[in-house]
Amino acid sequence: RNRRVQDGDPSMHAETAAFRAAGRQRSYRGTTMVTTLSPCWYCSGLVRQFGISRVVVGEAVTFHGGHDWLAGHGVEVVVLDDPECVAMMREFTARNAELWGEDIGE
Ligand SMILES: [Zn+2]
Repeated sequence: RNRRVQDGDPSMHAETAAFRAAGRQRSYRGTTMVTTLSPCWYCSGLVRQFGISRVVVGEAVTFHGGHDWLAGHGVEVVVLDDPECVAMMREFTARNAELWGEDIGE
């Protein structure tokens, strides 16, 4: 999950935290990244940079990140638009508008 506040690190988006936790690998071909939300441009760049093959997106209703761009560059993208993910993100962004703006660079 996102650890920007906990770690005092603006780059510690959930995708980045998961990527770091997975450790170094010779290749990321065949790996899958699972996200609650459509990945931002920063995290989409990480997926492309390291050749992660597949991204499963919980929802892209409340935020449209780079998943279309990823799909256009050969990444297998599955967008679930799961109602629980949408509800969770709507609640989070409503309660934490300033933090959310910081998360997405606005
Ligand atoms: Zn991100």
